[in-house]
Order: sequence, then C-alpha cells, then structure tokens
Amino acid sequence: MARRAARPAPALAAVGDTPLTALPGCGPKVAEKLAARALVCLQDLWLQLPRQYEDRTRLTSIRALQPGVAAQVEGRVEAVERGFRYRPMLRVAVSDDSHATVVLRFFHFRAAQVAQFQPGERVRCYGTPRPGQHGLEIVHPSYRVLDATDDELGNQLDPVYPTVEGVGPASLRRLIGLALDRLPAEDALELLPRELRDPLRLPSLREALLVVHRPPRDADVGALLAGTHPAQRRLALEELLAHHLSLRRQRIAQQAHAAPALRDTRLANQLRKALPFRLTGAQQRVFEQILVDLARPSPMLRLVQGDVGSGKTVVAALATMLAAAAGRQAALMAPTELLAEQHLANLRGWLEPLGVRVAWLAGKVTGRARAKVLEQVASGEAQVVVGTHALMQAGVAFHDLALAIVDEQHRFGVHQRLALRDKGAGGSVGASAVVPHQLVMTATPIPRTLAMSAYADLDVSAIDELPPGRTPVQTVALSAERRPELVERIRKACAEGRQAYWVCTLIDDPEETDKPSAAMKIEAQAAQSTFEALSAQLPELRVGLVHGRMKAADKQAAMFAFKAGEIDLLVATTVIEVGVDVPNASLMIIENAERLGLAQLHQLRGRVGRGSAASSCVLLYRSPLSMLARQRLETMRDTNDGFLIAEKDLELRGPGELLGTRQTGLAGFRLADLARDADLLPQVHAMGERLLTESPDVAEAIVARWVGAAARYASA
Ligand code: ADP
Ligand code: MG
Repeated sequence: MARRAARPAPALAAVGDTPLTALPGCGPKVAEKLAARALVCLQDLWLQLPRQYEDRTRLTSIRALQPGVAAQVEGRVEAVERGFRYRPMLRVAVSDDSHATVVLRFFHFRAAQVAQFQPGERVRCYGTPRPGQHGLEIVHPSYRVLDATDDELGNQLDPVYPTVEGVGPASLRRLIGLALDRLPAEDALELLPRELRDPLRLPSLREALLVVHRPPRDADVGALLAGTHPAQRRLALEELLAHHLSLRRQRIAQQAHAAPALRDTRLANQLRKALPFRLTGAQQRVFEQILVDLARPSPMLRLVQGDVGSGKTVVAALATMLAAAAGRQAALMAPTELLAEQHLANLRGWLEPLGVRVAWLAGKVTGRARAKVLEQVASGEAQVVVGTHALMQAGVAFHDLALAIVDEQHRFGVHQRLALRDKGAGGSVGASAVVPHQLVMTATPIPRTLAMSAYADLDVSAIDELPPGRTPVQTVALSAERRPELVERIRKACAEGRQAYWVCTLIDDPEETDKPSAAMKIEAQAAQSTFEALSAQLPELRVGLVHGRMKAADKQAAMFAFKAGEIDLLVATTVIEVGVDVPNASLMIIENAERLGLAQLHQLRGRVGRGSAASSCVLLYRSPLSMLARQRLETMRDTNDGFLIAEKDLELRGPGELLGTRQTGLAGFRLADLARDADLLPQVHAMGERLLTESPDVAEAIVARWVGAAARYASA
C-alpha cells in the first residue's frame, strides 16, 4: 500500500521544536531546570499534562472536611496567633456556618499577610487538611480575603502540574500557558490520520490539549477529575499508541538482525531424560515453542511468564542445551546474587553430568578467579555462564553467545536486557549483526491486555500449571498482637522436621525512603533484632539470618545452610523474595504485610508450598488497616493464583506498580492509565499495526512526540 504523506509541514513542525528560551521569562537558568525534567522545547510543555485539578467550583463546609482530601472552604477569621517555636509561625482559625473550625498554618509569611487576617474577615481558601493539634489544619493553603462584593466561585478547574524542581508552580503554569498560546493550527499538529481518528469520535489533538490544560467553563468537571473526559481519552489513546509503536518498532528492528539457528536437540533430550521429574504439560509446551524459535535464523524474543514455583528454571536449562550442542554459548542472568547462585547450583547439577561446562560470574568473583572466568568465557570453554549484572560489564567478552536468558526480568530494565544481547555481537549492533536469541522469564504474571502493551516487543508464553503434588498454601492474616502464638507454631513445625521463614519488611514506606541503601539498612536492623529475639525464644532451634547488608559470603552460607536443612528458621528481609527454592520450608511469616503490594506478597509466599507438605503463610499486620491494605490481605487469603492476583493488583494499584515501571524501562505515562484506559488497548493495537505497515513515517513521528529519548534508544 502507498505511503501517505501525513507528516506535518516542516515549518509548522518546527514550532513544536522551538527551544523554551524563546518564551519570555524563560532564561537559561529556568531552561536548565526544565531540561532536567526533559522539558526542552514547546512541544514538551504542550505535553506536560496536569497531574490533577483543583476544584474551586464548589465550597465544602468546614465540618465536612476530611483529612487528606483537598477542598475549598470559606469562613470568617476567628482568631489569629503569631508565634515562634523553632521558627516563625502564623495560625489563623477560620469557622463557618457549620460551626466547625479549621486552622490555617503558615511558616513563611509577610507582615502584610498578618495584617490581612483581621478577626471577622471573610476568607476563602483551598488546600488539603491534615489532623493537627486542635483539629484539622491546612498548611500553606492558597487563600483569598474576600470583600463584600467578591464572592463568585470559580467555574473552571485549575490544572496542577507535576512539580519541576527550581521552577515555582506559578511560573510553570505561566510558561505552559505561553507555550499553549503558540499551539499550531489543528492540521499542522495532528498526526493521526483522519480515517483512524473519525470512527473514535474523539477530539483533535489541539482541541484535546486545550481542554485538558484549560478546562472550559462548561466542561464536565467530574469526568476531568476522574480522567475520563473525551479530551483525556484522546490524549491517552495517542500516548498508548506511541508506547505501543515504540515497542513494536523495537521488535522489528531486533528481528532484522540475524541469529544462529539452533537445531541440535540431542543434549536437551539427554537432559530431559536425566531429570528426576517429568516436565509438566505446560513446561513441555513452552519448551516446544522455544525450540521453534531457536531453530530460526532470526532472534527469538520470548517472554516466559510462569507463576512462582511453576518450574521456569528447568525450561531455561533445556534451552541452554541447544546452544551447547551447537558448540556455542548461553548466558543466564539473575537479578540477585542469591538467585544466581541457586541457578548455578541447579545448572551444575543438571548439566555437568552431561559434560557441559558451567561458569559463574558475579560481582564478588574478583582477582585471579575473575580473570580465569573471563578467559573461559572469551575462549568459549565456558559453555553456559550463570551470573548477575556482572555479566553485562565491560570486559566480559563472549566467544560466541547464542542465547541470552534473563530471569525475573521485571527486576531489570529493557536496556539491561539489550546490553546482554549486545554481548553476543561484540558490543555494537548494526542492522545486519548476528545477535543472540533472547529469553526472558518472569514470575510476575500480568493480565493479558497489559502484557500486550508492556511486552509488545516480545512473544509471550505462559507456564500455567504447577508441578504435581503441590498443596496450595493456606494463608491467614493476623494482627501483630498475636505474634506470641506464632513462636509456638514455628516450634511445632520445626519439631516435625519442617523449616520456616520469618520475613521482616520495611516499616517505613519504601516509596518515602529515597535512598534504597537507607531502606535496606532499616530493614537489616529489623531483621537483626528479630533474629536475636527469636533465637532467645526458640533456643532449641537453629536460627539463621539473611539480609541485604550482609557480606555476600555470609548470605550465601546462611542460604545454603537453610537449603541443606542445617537451619530450621531463617529470619530474612525481602532479599529472599525472588526465586529462592527450599521445598522443605512449609511455614512463612511476613511482618508488616499490610505495607507490601500484592505482587511482592505473592512472590514472598511463593517461597513456601514448593514441596509436598501442606504449607502456610501468616500475614502479620498492624492495625488500623487501610481499606486498600485490607483488600490486599483478603485477596492473598482467598487465592494462590498469580494471574488472579495480578488482575486484582491492577484494579487496586494501577499498572505502574504492577509493572515496576521504574525497572521495566516502560517509561511512566504522562496521562494514560493502563487500568482506567484498558478498553482503548484493542484500538491502540489495531491502529498501531496499520500505521506500521501503511505509514511508518507517521508512526515514527508519534513515537518521537511522546516517547522521545526512550525511542531513540530503542532504535539503536
Ligand atoms: P520458578 O518458576 O518459580 O522459577 P523453579 O524453576 O525454581 O520455579 O522450580 C520450582 C521447583 O520445582 C524446583 O525445585 C524445581 O526443581 C521443581 N520442578 C520444576 N519442574 C518440575 C516438574 N515438572 N516436576 C516436579 N518438580 C519440578
Ligand atoms: Mg525462578
């Protein structure tokens, strides 16, 4: 089909590329601050969409104020108090006809402001109330002292933009306003071909941007606040489309490369026969899909999703046998040393009897040992290389890498996966380069619609069956006060020859703790003191400890001792979250379970129920439980099915968390919300395929507009 010339005329397209310094009041200093947030040209500001709106179209009575819920109130100044405790402070009590009072609290203020607040004056203010010493208070509300004639409520929503460090909200609003004033005419701005856009009955891009930035007086306030206004849907559609196209283009670029066709299945068959168990039907099916991929001379790009304990490792091991049989190399990379070591032990146990040489490379492999491994990797003597991120470092050169496997891929970024791929092509990948096949594995199942979006660059297989003989884990949620009972429960389980985990999690919200190292430290301290307490309470048991701040060798020693049954109770932090496999462990206690997300709880729980004994998981929580936390704990109690949990997680938290946005490299959306906008996805996928085949130049322009830098990387 003929290509359509739907790109904007160059002169007009250039408007969007105008640097922000062209705006009055945007000097080099401000421009620098904006650039730090990837805001460099007008178009970036057009697409810097409001995070939310302040609704000043209504008044809330002071009595009806709720902590944490932003609202606008109006009342009379009752009392003013100017004080000094550590720093100057101004408190203004305001009450209204509902005979309730709210305190406005200021830490920065000018004398003129103090003078404004005369008792009896009418003020209108907007802000988020929080519980204070004397009832609710609003810190630094935006406010206005009203005069007799001035009481018109606003009748439009005020946009609130994501904060840009060093640029005040008012300046940012002003600059975005100036940028919008230069928005080109509809036809120049629009990229979606009319025949794709018309059936959707959604506004043009120009119209949508104007509504979203400057909601008109008659706009549907409720819809805008909920993010379901047609203007928002229009923008979400284009944004989702851009992300989808970006991933699809990445896939096309990848598949243009060549890969070695791997067809010799003899070693794999030998391994299969030597295994102490039979593959499940699902493992068999997924392995066959992999065989088909590997036999082709173009790179496999496959994601294997499988619930915790579904047996992904052995499928990966079988795949490495095809590389080995062809006289080439395979690499298996895991996100943590613990997990990588476990893979190493498994692979050595399975492969070495067949004469396949397995090498080990992690950060802690240093000095002569490291030099030796690097030498074996470079010469091809090492046929299968297991390791951590260390595999991707400069200085690691493979002789002939034909298969790159990444386990628990949600812990890695797209970039890291590609970095490993590039190891197979001498570091730089041109269009005709030979690259390794790629297999990525994840135990974080995600709903199908999401998978299609998040992994549009991959083929997806699911191991949707657990090995036989597993009994489902019984889960209960208990209030932390009942902790003493658990000590007895552990005593009993261990007396029966079983093993138990006690998982200490962060007490503070990790989202609030900026530095992961600080979080890890608090977690480690919690684990240390729990370890001491439980050791004292259970003197007859062998208690071990694993946390992220221990020396790798000590961590490893504790893990292996647990695995070997030399430790009865393992006190651990969430470092054990992924992959750890000790089938004899049948009891897990998770502290502060109310703090964890569903995906993480499910991962942790997956450490038990791996053997034939009935297992249980106790979720300890501290009251009061928030509504969300309660629902999460109930979900965990009600089901063991990772896919159901993923659906629920999506519903409760939204997809950013679910996909671990920060790690996947799937950049955060500006406006789209995969949960809310899920119904747009089939449309997005269909449009995406059409654009890629019929108008690749338009596809490229859409990606450049919304995804920018990430897309530039993807086409590398
Ligand atoms: P995950 O998919 O969570 O990575 P693993 O690969 O660690 O799961 O496998 C979990 C456990 O199940 C391991 O002990 C593994 O040896 C065992 N296993 C894997 N496949 C089978 C099978 N078909 N039958 C019995 N046990 C199996
Ligand atoms: Mg695993």
